[in-house]
Amino acid sequence: MTYDVIVIGGGSAGLMASIAASMDGAKVLLVDKGDKLGRKLGISGGGRCNVTNNKDMDELIKHIPGNGRFLYSALTHFSNKDIIDFFENLGIRLKEEDNGRMFPVSDKAKTVVDALIGQVRRQGVEIRTNSPVKMVLYKDGSVQGVRLQSGETMNSKAVIIASGGCSVPHTGSTGDGYAWAEAGGHTITQLFPTEVPLTSKEAFIRSRELQGLSLRDVTLSVWNAKGKSIISHRGDMPFESLTCISA
Ligand SMILES: Cc1cc2nc3c(=O)[nH]c(=O)nc-3n(C[C@H](O)[C@H](O)[C@H](O)COP(=O)(O)OP(=O)(O)OC[C@H]3O[C@@H](n4cnc5c(N)ncnc54)[C@H](O)[C@@H]3O)c2cc1C
Repeated sequence: MTYDVIVIGGGSAGLMASIAASMDGAKVLLVDKGDKLGRKLGISGGGRCNVTNNKDMDELIKHIPGNGRFLYSALTHFSNKDIIDFFENLGIRLKEEDNGRMFPVSDKAKTVVDALIGQVRRQGVEIRTNSPVKMVLYKDGSVQGVRLQSGETMNSKAVIIASGGCSVPHTGSTGDGYAWAEAGGHTITQLFPTEVPLTSKEAFIRSRELQGLSLRDVTLSVWNAKGKSIISHRGDMPFESLTCISA
């Protein structure tokens, strides 16, 4: 079977890529190894999905760790305001919370997942779940298609790798895409997690007495060993699911 575009991975990136690729009538195939699309999206934002932020672009970029300016070009084409319009056009009402964070009024990430899958289907994208991709096929410097673990091969003029990173692997993302991208000539930089739980041996953390507490408009500062504040962040601070460390 030959397609104009094959999208590997039906998470948030793959669903959006499928919608964009099929907008002008291209024949698009979306393949995912899991039995369900958008699994990580479904648990995002504490199950409520923080879809974007309503602040100005400069303010957003200021908060990207490292050199956020590389995002100017992408955000000029499709900005946070476009994301808000996009979801509202799909019938999802959004609300703004602290620091410009935008959530669905339903407070359910499922609303977002269902809307994206619904749009993918309406635009005629062929969806294949339970279909793990084994490799992306290249020939003479061009992409040819993909081969599934079952041995089946699909041909395509373009392949979009949207198979996710390595976090929360039980949602399906096990980092398979890095090697495929590298084989296609992309550079893979050193990988590291950007969002990790704060762990502490403090007695008041271990006793879980803060669990369920939601602090409004507080400032959290990280101090170095010399007692100097390195960074501060102001906002709400919910203690949703504390895990005590044992050592
Ligand atoms: C607890 C938590 C809360 C979060 N909260 C937010 C939030 O509120 N707002 C926000 O913007 N972001 C949030 N994030 C981050 C956000 O969920 C991720 O950035 C986003 O899901 C990444 O999307 P993705 O499409 O790149 O990858 P994923 O969502 O991981 O999707 C990758 C897909 O590729 C498929 N796949 C992998 N390998 C293969 C293969 N070999 N063959 C076929 N298919 C394959 C997987 O099955 C999966 O469906 C949160 C993340 C977590 C873990």
